[in-house]
Amino acid sequence: MTYNQPLSGNEMPRFAGPGTFMRLPGQATAEGLDVGFVGVPVDIGTSNRPGARYGPRSVRAESVMIRPYQMATGAAPFDSLQIADLGDVPIDTFDLGRTVDIVQRFYADVLAHGCRTLSIGGDHVITLPILRAHAEAIGPRRIGLVHVDAHADVNDEMFGERVTHGTWLRRAVEEDLVDPARCVQIGLRATGYSADDFDWSRRRGIRVVEAEACWHRSLAPLMDDVRTSLGPGPVYVSFDIDGLDPAFAPGTGTPEFAGLTSIQGYEIVRGCHGLEVIGGDLVEVSPPYDPSGNTSMLGANLLYEMLCVLPGVRRR
Ligand code: MN
Ligand code: MN
Repeated sequence: MTYNQPLSGNEMPRFAGPGTFMRLPGQATAEGLDVGFVGVPVDIGTSNRPGARYGPRSVRAESVMIRPYQMATGAAPFDSLQIADLGDVPIDTFDLGRTVDIVQRFYADVLAHGCRTLSIGGDHVITLPILRAHAEAIGPRRIGLVHVDAHADVNDEMFGERVTHGTWLRRAVEEDLVDPARCVQIGLRATGYSADDFDWSRRRGIRVVEAEACWHRSLAPLMDDVRTSLGPGPVYVSFDIDGLDPAFAPGTGTPEFAGLTSIQGYEIVRGCHGLEVIGGDLVEVSPPYDPSGNTSMLGANLLYEMLCVLPGVRRR
């Protein structure tokens, strides 16, 4: 068995070559794959600065420097899994409702091949149809969730709309896609529409770890605890880049200060190792607000770290 490899910087300069994630082979269907990277270029679910539609292209562009082996954890994803880039979902940028259905159908097809997905957003609305497709694919087992974000994303409506980047998790709970007792939200902070904004999550049994509880400390102990409380069963990782402080990730639509560090972001994703991770996404990168490209580069690296914690990845 030979596995797809990212195109090496010694074979083709890093600033050239294919525009796929890590310059992996591109593939039109998920046939034969263990993992597919998928771009979801949606930003019509967002409520403030737009631009996340450019996220997939930009995150892929900044992924060129990532090499195959993770030196700290020993993870060797390309020694043990068949991985490719499945391109972008052909969304309808004039119609959010239709877009949500298109995304769900796209993922249903990929998951039917037994292929796990790592998704490049796009704004956070994409997680709802992705979770719908996963819930359908895995049957009665409800999904656990590791959700990194500055925001709870549990509004009932935004401007009268029920499916947006700020309402997706409330819909996912109402639709019974996720098991609240196996959900954790990390990094929530800043200002609320009302004083009890984060209580909707807590009332349903979701564990909420506000940013202030993360300040000045390693999140490795928190993740030890999260692994115990989430236990066995499927877990999805949804990482909103605005969970991190704008000092590290300024290129996003709804930035909030005093957030997590990039190190803490790595600790959270690496701390998912050992969970039954069925997929993940990295959302809300808005390249027009990211002149250095560092937000996209950080997003690319967090997606690589998600790849490294998937079950079945060898560690050296
Ligand atoms: Mn979000
Ligand atoms: Mn957010």
